[in-house]
Amino acid sequence: MKTDYIKVVKFGGSSLADAAQFKKVIQIIRDDESRRYVVPSAPGKRFSGDFKVTDKLYECYNAVVTEKNWMNVLNVIKERYAEIVDGLGIDFDLETPFDEIAKHIESGAGSDYIASRGEYLNALILAAALGYDFIDAADVLFFEDSGMLDAYKTQKVMSTVLKLHPRAVIPGFYGSLSDGTIKTFSRGGSDVSGSVVARACNADLYENWTDVSGFLVADPRIVDSPKTIDVITYHELRELSYMGANVLHEDSIFPVRMAGIPINIRNTNKPSDKGTMIIAHADSSVSANIITGIAGKGGFSVLTIEKDMMNSQVGFGRKVLQVFEKYSISFEHLPSGIDSMGVIVSTAALDRKRDVIINEICRSVEPDSIQLEEGLALVAVVGRGMVNACGTAARIFSAIAEVGVNVRMIDQGSSEYNIIVSVAEKDMNKTIRAIYEEFSRDLS
Ligand code: ASP
Repeated sequence: MKTDYIKVVKFGGSSLADAAQFKKVIQIIRDDESRRYVVPSAPGKRFSGDFKVTDKLYECYNAVVTEKNWMNVLNVIKERYAEIVDGLGIDFDLETPFDEIAKHIESGAGSDYIASRGEYLNALILAAALGYDFIDAADVLFFEDSGMLDAYKTQKVMSTVLKLHPRAVIPGFYGSLSDGTIKTFSRGGSDVSGSVVARACNADLYENWTDVSGFLVADPRIVDSPKTIDVITYHELRELSYMGANVLHEDSIFPVRMAGIPINIRNTNKPSDKGTMIIAHADSSVSANIITGIAGKGGFSVLTIEKDMMNSQVGFGRKVLQVFEKYSISFEHLPSGIDSMGVIVSTAALDRKRDVIINEICRSVEPDSIQLEEGLALVAVVGRGMVNACGTAARIFSAIAEVGVNVRMIDQGSSEYNIIVSVAEKDMNKTIRAIYEEFSRDLS
């Protein structure tokens, strides 16, 4: 039996925004001795209108390149850390790291170096407060020159280094290129760092602590107090994030998914909430609601092409799609009938290419009719439980019909994990509410 249960815990910016939040984080880590590796973000906003340290650091870089007084900006950031250190009552010298940062800036440090210092400083402070070792991410997380994560080298070096440090804090968001230059992930990338650390130490669980108690079944701006999703598979999460339901950086799934490590989204401000568990596969021991989540996104157009006997014309679909490919537009969905096919694309991507695309399709396949409709929204109903539940589609459509919304198009993924309906943009929220209402009584 495995005795050394390991959790990697990543804390987002709002969890480390000030000393009071730091204290919650420290308590959470101390409450469970398996929380051995900690990955912090930089301090986020304390209140609305406040600044995020990372944004200020980018501002500092801009001041450097525009030859403004960058030292003033850096001092505002230092002030912020001084408040944290004071509030924690720890003996921590801020002068040395800030002198070192200023020196690097003077000698021409790039924007990634400057932006990464938010995480670097937070990790130093947290390590000191916890009595954990500090491991600089630049020494264990590597990027290829193309800017992609060098997963192979990172795994090799990081797993070896972590074995030497039973408890450590590793700053999120950055690593280094082969020449040692600091390189960051895209914004929100500490989620990815946490995932990489979890894989490197072969963690049993990757806890991602933020300011919400997990994923919600629907967007709370649309549905009043939606329920939290207890368990979601990576696959379902992907479907929902594609529709814009974002809590986690998209790239953070890959490293842990490969290693079969579950992710638990937790709330630093409500540590007793169980949060959402993201798992690779839900076997039958994990009970599933019929639907896991509902998400909607506007800004779509559908091009409907009709032609008699289309079904017997080999290559019809390819010719239509080739035109979109030529103009670098990827299609989102392809609902089709016997003599018609629809191509759903983002309206923004069509932009000023709509007329040429329509003309070229007309020349290529000589349709009986072709029609473009803009202002559509897609609503995705996602759930692994749908496979075993009869009548789910019927329930979705009667709920939508009852609120008087006209469904423009339907697309059910062949995996039976999702049903996507397209409605007029103005009806999107109403549709989501109707579906939520219909299924909310079944949600555990
Ligand atoms: N601090 C960085 C950002 O604001 C990275 C992160 O928080 O994950 O994007």
